[in-house]
Amino acid sequence: MAAMTTDLAARETEAIALDAEDSLRALRGEFHIPGAGAIRGLPDGDSCVYLTGNSLGCQPRAVRGLVERELEDWARLGVEGHLKGRDPWLSYHEQFRGPLSRLVGAGAHEVVAMNSLTVNLHLLMATFYRPTAARYRIVIEDSAFPSDSYAVASQAAMHGFDPGDAVVRLRPRAGEQGLRTEDVLAAIERGAGSIALVLLGAVNYLTGQWFDMAAITAGARSAGARVGWDLAHAIGNVPMRLHDWDADFAAWCSYKYLNAGPGAVAGAFVHERHCRDSSLPQLAGWWGNDPAARFRMASAFEPVPRADRWALSNPPILSLTPLKASLALFDRATLPALRAKSVRLTAYMESLVRGGCPGVSSLTPTDPAQRGCQLSLVVPGGRPTLERLTAEGIVADFREPDVIRAAPVPLYNSFHDVWRFAATLARILKD
Ligand SMILES: *Cc1c(COP(=O)(O)O)cnc(C)c1O
Repeated sequence: MAAMTTDLAARETEAIALDAEDSLRALRGEFHIPGAGAIRGLPDGDSCVYLTGNSLGCQPRAVRGLVERELEDWARLGVEGHLKGRDPWLSYHEQFRGPLSRLVGAGAHEVVAMNSLTVNLHLLMATFYRPTAARYRIVIEDSAFPSDSYAVASQAAMHGFDPGDAVVRLRPRAGEQGLRTEDVLAAIERGAGSIALVLLGAVNYLTGQWFDMAAITAGARSAGARVGWDLAHAIGNVPMRLHDWDADFAAWCSYKYLNAGPGAVAGAFVHERHCRDSSLPQLAGWWGNDPAARFRMASAFEPVPRADRWALSNPPILSLTPLKASLALFDRATLPALRAKSVRLTAYMESLVRGGCPGVSSLTPTDPAQRGCQLSLVVPGGRPTLERLTAEGIVADFREPDVIRAAPVPLYNSFHDVWRFAATLARILKD
């Protein structure tokens, strides 16, 4: 980044002014922001600058009351809670379709809240990775999240292929951090006859790069491959149109930008053209059966023609409840408004760091269309720098050897948070 430095301490009033004109600022009050004291092991005082919503989102204040309500209904009603609860458990999962479909750009019938992310990747690959002797390769990013690497390698091995041959890892050009769309498309075209599946993290967890999902989906499909997207770092972060882009499937977790708590119930998208295709093989359970026939307890599976078809079990109500609280806030704020604020917050962080933190560079693309809220900053000093930030109540995360990932989240982070982060980092680097 440019070498010019400015004194960030003098720019606090600017951040305060930006917050004053932020129409979404009231949403911060809907969350518990962890206390600086709790994080540093001191009595609780000020709140932290919490920049790890890309890892575990903050708890919506409404969660506790909603979970207590389910606990009460369970205590009061027992099994009758399935039908007579205030929010009956039998249909509880249905209320997630609308809000989730708005976040991924799909029809309500194309999404389902279920399981956890890696489990969903496997379930969907059971259907959409059907390798043949000629077409068996899986394309992922070289910097894919480890669980995704393990998932695709184990799928290839389960089908009798050597993962070293079957898994194609896309690497950036020498000296570059991100993958160029044209290079991704060229790799897919080169492997057109042998690639069965392209499975990429829509927003890469490490670099924060947001891929051109429309172009890559189109390129992979015209090469005869299936396309799945891992939305772990994309959902609730960037706007998407999975249905129109014609993706085959997607899966995500709900504890990052969706703020639904540690290990929260994840989700999946399956394009409607597949939901209706009864010839597709799948792993099945009773919750994927047509609900009209579910309780006939028949032995033959009658798949419901929606993404629910891939659900196996009745959902864990207590674990789903936090997601309900969080999705209500997304609907209140609306994704376009959140994205607009997000673009400004991240650009603000980038400009403060560039102007005031000498020696810091970024792995994340500078083009807002190629990133979400996260910046992956390469910092001098590596881990000790992160530890000093933590000691000052700035919560960001660290990836070896020297990357600090900082994600200003538009639902609850402020311009002042971003200023505090940059000003603190600048002071630490100066010492
Ligand atoms: C966070 C994350 C995971 C985590 O997987 P779980 O099954 O939820 O534990 C997997 N893949 C990616 C890309 C992630 O960012």
